[in-house]
Amino acid sequence: MASSRQYSTAQWQALDRSHFLHPFTDLTRLNAGASRIITRAEGVYLWDSDDNRLLDGFAGLWCVNMGYGRSELAVAAAEQMQQLPYYNSFFNTATPPALELAELLAEVSAPQFNYSFFTGSGSEANDTIVRMVRRFWDLEGQPGRVNIIARHNAYHGSTMAGASLGGMDYMHKQGGLPIPNIHHIMQPYWYELGGDLSPGEFGLRAAAELENKILELGPDKVAAFIGEPIQGAGGVIIPPASYWPAVQAICKKYDVLLVADEVICGFGRTGRWFGSDTFGIEPDLMAVAKGMSSGYLPIGAVLVSDRVAHSLIKKGGEFAHGYTYSGHPVCAAVAAANIRLMHREGIIDRVANDTGPYFQQRLAELGEHPLVGEARSVGMIGALELVADKSRRSFFQPRGDMGSLCRDYALANGLILRATRDTMLFSPSLVMDKPQIDEMISLTRLSLDQAAATKGIA
Ligand SMILES: *Cc1c(COP(=O)(O)O)cnc(C)c1O
Repeated sequence: MASSRQYSTAQWQALDRSHFLHPFTDLTRLNAGASRIITRAEGVYLWDSDDNRLLDGFAGLWCVNMGYGRSELAVAAAEQMQQLPYYNSFFNTATPPALELAELLAEVSAPQFNYSFFTGSGSEANDTIVRMVRRFWDLEGQPGRVNIIARHNAYHGSTMAGASLGGMDYMHKQGGLPIPNIHHIMQPYWYELGGDLSPGEFGLRAAAELENKILELGPDKVAAFIGEPIQGAGGVIIPPASYWPAVQAICKKYDVLLVADEVICGFGRTGRWFGSDTFGIEPDLMAVAKGMSSGYLPIGAVLVSDRVAHSLIKKGGEFAHGYTYSGHPVCAAVAAANIRLMHREGIIDRVANDTGPYFQQRLAELGEHPLVGEARSVGMIGALELVADKSRRSFFQPRGDMGSLCRDYALANGLILRATRDTMLFSPSLVMDKPQIDEMISLTRLSLDQAAATKGIA
């Protein structure tokens, strides 16, 4: 049963101020202001406590891929709750939902993936990866391979290892991060960093930084490279086509494990099951979470290639790592039901060949707007880069105010978008249909016009 309290918005907000510490929120500002209370949802729409309807352009937090209100997922949870609400998978035990989910993941992923290690979240998946790759190299007789290379402005979660792998400086400043032996190289962000290079040239330059870093550290000291196929939280940064093949070749050359953080790109977001499929990457490990359960329950996993899994199994004995909720039966049952639902509705095909191309075309039209320097998208993920002068690719100073302004106008107009710096991010549910895409685009255009007018830009 949902909360049965008939509270006014002001009463919920007062409770919030008194008792609730929010993640990734300016707590000082929120305590002086008011939070937004979301009370229900259906399809691609949310309703707040004042009964305003909001079009969700962000699928919750990049995760409600199959939309809100899917009774198949609610029923899967309820049935599993009654049959077996919890049992662990430590000490030689397993439950049927976790086993079925592991089989489904092996089926939808590339041929090298046949094993899953379950976690409660994407952050925990990346923490697991840090320990697993070091363990792997130990077992392979190369214990010196402890270093992991990641990228500036990457997001890999919020735990100690996840935030260390991530390249967000403002996160590193809190809590003494990064942990040792994590290194960051240039991100493949052509629009900001490309200068006079073509996207193709720039992609190769950004990849070359990986080789330079491997040589600087010593190839026999490097365990792995980790990257999101498309950087999500960093601003939907879609690398030039030259980037991933070059990274793949460098990893092969020095036998460095390639890790794809698929927490956003996985489960249809880019029009294939995984972003690695879209970009032609063959990773050794993949982190997944978010869209795996469409966000209905918290669950993540590390998809482990045969090479790594066989080493752990044949040489390793105990891998001294795991979570109370690894393979939680209710979460696993919902994730399995979600994957079956994706199959049944042919959602990947729809994103690849129907609604995805339509979304991309409509978003590209906004590239003509005077505020928009670049409109970029793949599948059902995209961004509008707002700039002060599009002819000279010059950013607003200070950065971020225009993005916040545009996001606030969108919200007032009934559309939820996210802003990173001055980049407007789009990640709608994969079930969003064409009229809903039209609605999202026209509300965005209205919000851009209002933001431009406020700042006196024609
Ligand atoms: C959200 C996210 C994570 C962290 O997942 P949590 O479930 O929030 O711990 C990791 N990597 C990427 C790419 C993400 O977007």
